[in-house]
Amino acid sequence: MKKKRASQKEVYTLADLKSWRDVDPAIRLAVFGDPVEHSLSPQMQNAALKHSKIDTQYARFHILQNELRDAFDLIRELKFIGVNLTIPHKIAALELLDLVDDNAKRVGAANVLKMDNGKLHGFNTDGRGFSRAVREEFSVDLRDLRVMVLGAGGAARAIARQCAKENCERLAIANSTFEKGQQLADSLRNFFEGPKVLGPVARLQAIPWDERAFQFQIANVDLVVNATPVGLNRSDPSPIPSRLLAPHVMVYDAIYSEKRTPLVSAAIEAGARAANGLSMLLHQGALAFEIWFQREAPLEVMRAAIR
Ligand code: NAP
Repeated sequence: MKKKRASQKEVYTLADLKSWRDVDPAIRLAVFGDPVEHSLSPQMQNAALKHSKIDTQYARFHILQNELRDAFDLIRELKFIGVNLTIPHKIAALELLDLVDDNAKRVGAANVLKMDNGKLHGFNTDGRGFSRAVREEFSVDLRDLRVMVLGAGGAARAIARQCAKENCERLAIANSTFEKGQQLADSLRNFFEGPKVLGPVARLQAIPWDERAFQFQIANVDLVVNATPVGLNRSDPSPIPSRLLAPHVMVYDAIYSEKRTPLVSAAIEAGARAANGLSMLLHQGALAFEIWFQREAPLEVMRAAIR
């Protein structure tokens, strides 16, 4: 007799992976995170799979930091095609993978995993996704911008490295743990040895997470990027208050939401242009689809699915 298939859950856990009951079409793609309930990746990737007539599904998995190793072992056994990693797994995952591509190694974080002959291979599409998103939202290229990045975690590392690779005018990194921001800046120093001269402000610097430092930087940057989770909860304050923002800056909040994030609201109140992370989600996801399936992603189908 044919085994009855289970019905699909909104969020799976490690316990589900341990006693896996598949649905139809089979789940062989996933996003692992904590929290993960907010992730729009399933609706975007499932639309792309359906459109491309690929007979598999993508699902959310609430995986805690101390469960990541077991979760990787189980998806190897279950022959998953690939996984996206979100907060807080992108950095810790590197040590648990079989292979890490050069870009992810340099960034120090992986957001896309692909199974290749039973081995888990790590990639990073956040940087390129971010660059495409900024071009789409503000019609500018990173090379023409002075940028301040908030954060030094997985997303911030990819974003800061992409700004450096594209030879942005200057880069300031603000992190709540200053030393981590400093380490990130130091790792990018060789990109900033060129001839661009900007008067008294440094081309590359780590700055403290405080109002005076933000105020000085905002007068000397064109783009402010939030790559921290501050704003993920509706009750969070804006990481930078509105009174410190100014109409000349563009603000990109990597957090995505259908509603305005606290930072986007603060930017609009200050008369600045602002966008949230939906466009980055779209472009990093399209690049992930291309890594998994070696074919062009149906970008407009994916865009419509998250709108
Ligand atoms: P992560 O690796 O855990 O890094 C978190 C960073 O935020 C760290 O630098 C941490 O500082 C800082 N931070 C945490 N809580 C803070 C607070 N209360 N105040 C100030 N700083 C704080 O996370 P991640 O993977 O980089 O993700 C960061 C955010 O980017 C998430 O909200 C995620 O949703 C978003 N994201 C969006 C996209 C997209 O496609 N739109 C892609 C990637 C990430 P310390 O070093 O001091 O701990």
